[in-house]
Amino acid sequence: MALKIADHWFERKTIDDAITLLWEPYVDPLIRCNIWHVRGRDFDLMIDTGLGIASLAEAAQDLLEKPVKAVATHTHYDHVGGHHEFQECIVHKLEEASLRNEDKSNFAGLTKDTIDPYVAEKIEASGYKLKDVLVTAIPKKGFNLADYELKGVQNKITTVEAGDVIDLGDRQFEILHLPGHSPGSIGLWEAKSGTLFSGDAIYDGPLIETLPGADLDQYIATLRTLMDIPATVVHAGHDPSFGRDTLQQIARKYLTMWA
Ligand SMILES: [Zn+2]
Repeated sequence: MALKIADHWFERKTIDDAITLLWEPYVDPLIRCNIWHVRGRDFDLMIDTGLGIASLAEAAQDLLEKPVKAVATHTHYDHVGGHHEFQECIVHKLEEASLRNEDKSNFAGLTKDTIDPYVAEKIEASGYKLKDVLVTAIPKKGFNLADYELKGVQNKITTVEAGDVIDLGDRQFEILHLPGHSPGSIGLWEAKSGTLFSGDAIYDGPLIETLPGADLDQYIATLRTLMDIPATVVHAGHDPSFGRDTLQQIARKYLTMWA
């Protein structure tokens, strides 16, 4: 089946004065991550960058008036494909090597048959249907799905851990270490506004606790941590944003299942 060529690869939605959501509409929801641009006084953040199939830096050019640091909530390929385009990246210290993709250990693929069968099985066991082809269009003529691979970051990487603060000048995000989905999963928490960027630690869809690097005990502890966060809004790694009630409902549901 021939896929159509997309006339643009990213969609976007303005959330407020400072926050814009970008996403890849032709990507299957399973690997379509939320890309959050946050404008700051001194610099901007790009929280996750999608698959790297097309240039995010180009598509978001008009948003990027300031230097921008690309944060990796974790280094699964659907979140870090575009990080190599940015001059500085931020990642938890446990996933720095993975962001550089030096050991090529990061599973990646746009078709079912290019994804590690073990990983494919775990994804399906979590309640997703893994389609044979995970995109409904290609970004340009001649783009070959089988050639897709994750580009490692060569530029500057700043590593963070729990309690560090990313200070944009006018807003401060505390790093929460939220392991379980992956060892170096982080959240960015702004207490003043009650805003949490949660990555894949929690989102409003089937949570995945069985991929390589995942740890169920850590995930349980993370869900307990999340239960106590007085978030007004959670901007997650996938699916629509939600408030504290839903945050607690999701956490409670998985704690009942897992703990
Ligand atoms: Zn993930």
